[in-house]
Formats: sequence, structure tokens, C-alpha cells
Amino acid sequence: MSWFSGVQQGPPIEVFALTKQFTEDSFPQKVNLGVGAYRSDEGKPWVLPVVRIAEKALANDDSLNKEYLPVLGLEIFSSLSTKMLLGEDSPALTQNKAFGVQCLSGTGALRVGAEFLARKLEKTVFYFSKPTWGNHRLVFLSAGFQDAREYRYWNGETRGLDIDGFLEDLNNAPEGAVIILHACAHNPTGCDPTQEQWKQIASVIKDKKLFPFFDSAYQGFASGDLDKDAWAVRYFVTQGFELFCAQSYAKNFGLYNERTGNLSVVMNNPSEVPAVKSQITLTVRGMYSNPPSHGARIVSHVLSNKELYNQWRDNIKTMSSRIIEMRKRLREELERLGTPGSWNHITDQIGMFSYTGLNEAQSEHMVKKHHIYMLKSGRISMCGLTPSNVEYVAKSINETLS
Ligand code: PLP
Repeated sequence: MSWFSGVQQGPPIEVFALTKQFTEDSFPQKVNLGVGAYRSDEGKPWVLPVVRIAEKALANDDSLNKEYLPVLGLEIFSSLSTKMLLGEDSPALTQNKAFGVQCLSGTGALRVGAEFLARKLEKTVFYFSKPTWGNHRLVFLSAGFQDAREYRYWNGETRGLDIDGFLEDLNNAPEGAVIILHACAHNPTGCDPTQEQWKQIASVIKDKKLFPFFDSAYQGFASGDLDKDAWAVRYFVTQGFELFCAQSYAKNFGLYNERTGNLSVVMNNPSEVPAVKSQITLTVRGMYSNPPSHGARIVSHVLSNKELYNQWRDNIKTMSSRIIEMRKRLREELERLGTPGSWNHITDQIGMFSYTGLNEAQSEHMVKKHHIYMLKSGRISMCGLTPSNVEYVAKSINETLS
């Protein structure tokens, strides 16, 4: 007899299963376009030079100890993070309407925010884009939401945003529904609304009394400019919205495994901030008690030092420029080979990912025949492309589609 006999095997998580398959593949030209992590021109993981500098400084700082952080995390970290998102002189900050909570990376920030909304504001319905990052649904349902709905986002024919479908679905959403919005560099499509489209989206969200929950996993990574990538969130704030925004430092600082993130909360009434903070404190206390310090100290060290901050911006530029260059090269190669279809979407899209337009069978063919690992949806991570494999990848796409 075992208590566990009835436990059913759960489905594998596609992106992790793909990486395992890639690691076990002995084919010399294999390429991993699955995982959403930056790689150098040599295809290697990259620790940002500014992170190495910060870590050395922290290692030599004898005043630091290993005591618990407060439940809501390192105060300087969360306030610098919220400032980075909203902008130095945001009225929400000057009027004490906004604050941050250090969380376990972007996923943790989504979870803490969703727990609070489900348990304290009794929210049940949430909307996410079709398609979206594979974890939104699980995080929100695990947090206590009951009704997962999609809004239209991607138009497979135009390989662009389905803004009419998007607005129509928002228009039909019930009052109070929580809307997850990708702040920039939409994962998986790499396709963001224009500023004009964001204004339309904001207007429907306001009219229909919906709650915007931004997911900002790529600030700086999309355009290389931190302010530009925060435009949508800042626009909503200027329009007087109350909102949540989950921020991750996994990509823009390369701190994937440090689990360093922040939940920014923007409210209308400063006098209600202490009550909300106290309830989020209980939410966190009941889940993991308090967050780890290492990543938060690295980020704070860099954001509070002008010289290091500028170096970080350069490091972000290095990453975003390499990705933009790879987009260009891939498109050029595909066009040079005369690969069926148009390929402008590869360079129109931004951020880490590209929705190639390959269907499930074609994507599986890429894995099986060419040892090029990509998601079934046709999503590829541009970070896996390098000057030495881009030709091989283009040739393989060409063979798959010809
Ligand atoms: N949200 C989106 C859209 C993402 O793409 C990711 C990571 O891939 C995350 C959130 C969360 O990442 P992490 O929890 O590693 O910060």
C-alpha cells in the first residue's frame, strides 16, 4: 500500500523537456532554439560583466550578513525597481501611490500579485493573450483564480497583432476581470502593440472596469532602452489606472537562477497603501516567508551606482544588439535561399523570441531531421542563433518548407 499509488504522471514541461533532449543529442551541429536565455556569439551562457563587478564588491563587503530579509524583501531593491519601471519622476511615486515588493523573479511576482487578487479582492476571472508564455495559466489557477480566458492576440495570416480581436474580447470581458498584459517583447510572438494600439487597449480596459496586470520580463531587452520598454506601463499610470506589474531581472541582468524580481503596485489612494502592504506581507509569509538576498543585492548595487548603471545599460545593449543582428542575418539567409513565404516578420518582431510561422509538424521536423530544437508552436529563441549556426538553421528551415 502507498499513499501515492493514485498519483498520475503529469505532462512534461515542453521547454525543459526540449533542453534535456538537446543535451542528450550527440549530433555535432545541434542547435537549441528552445530555451529563453541569452547566449553569446559563441553560443555560451553570459554572466554580465557588471554582475561580476557587483558580486566581487559584495564578497568583499564585511558589513553584509546572512540574516533574514524583511518579508517584503530588500527595501532599496524594491524601491529602485519600481522607480526603474515607472520613471524617476512618476507622479505615482512622488504622491506615494506606488511601492514594490521583492519577489522570486517574475514568476514569483506574478504569483504573489495573483494570490493577493484572488484571496483578498476575490477575483476569479483572468485573461491572457492567445498565445502567451506557457506559465501564466498555471500560476494564476494555482493562486486561486478559477476562470482562465484568452483574448485574441496573434493573427497567423498577417503574422501580426489581431488588434480588432483583442479589443473585442476585452470589450466582452466581465467587469473586474484581471487582464495580463506583456509590457514589452511579447513572449512568444515578439509582436507588441504600437503606442496608438496601447491607447485603444487602455481605453477599453478603463471603460469596462478591468484590472491591468502587466508582466514585464524584458525591460531593456526589447529595444535596448529601459525607458522605451516601459512606455506602456507608464502610459497606463498617466491615465490614472491602478495596476500591478511583475518585473523580472532574469533576462536583463542575466540573473536566471537568482530568482530576483519585483511586484510593483500602483494605487489611487496613498492612505490605503499600508493595509495593502500588510495583506501582501501575510500572503508572502504564508508562501515562502521572505525572499533571498543575493540577486537583490547585486541589482541594488548596480542601480544605485551611476557608473555601474551605465555599464549595465551597455551590457543590455550588447545583448539586444546581438539579437537584432541575428534577426537580420536569419531573414537575409532565408530570403537568399528563396525560402517559401515572406520573412519580414523576423525583423519586425522584437525581444528574445520569434514566432516563425512554422506549424507543429514543421517544427517537429526541424527537431527530428535537423536537430534544431524549437517549440511546437514554431517559436524560436533568437539567442540560440550565432554567426556560426545561422546559415545551418536557415538552410534547415528552407528544406522543411520547400
Ligand atoms: N513572464 C514572461 C512573459 C516570461 O517570458 C518569463 C520568462 O521566460 C517570465 C515571466 C518569468 O521569468 P522568471 O520567473 O524567470 O523571472
